[in-house]
Amino acid sequence: MNNNNQQLSKINTTMNNNNQQHEQGVCPCCGNEGNIDYGAITSLDGDSMYFEAVCNECEATWEEHYTLTFDSHEQIQKTNEQ
Ligand SMILES: [Zn+2]
Repeated sequence: MNNNNQQLSKINTTMNNNNQQHEQGVCPCCGNEGNIDYGAITSLDGDSMYFEAVCNECEATWEEHYTLTFDSHEQIQKTNEQ
């Protein structure tokens, strides 16, 4: 409960910040690029996942969500049938 309230107030703070950027590897609160620590990867249903991210400049935290797209098959191996 308390945790939810904290997250809500964080979201409201972010929404009132006109300088926010929503790009990969950019802090959505202060716009810092590159000084971000990424934590655990979490897989979501289907073809999406997210990283937990922390900004080392302003200490904001967020989830960076990605949709996975198929690229190619690599390193294909098959046991020979005899
Ligand atoms: Zn930041």
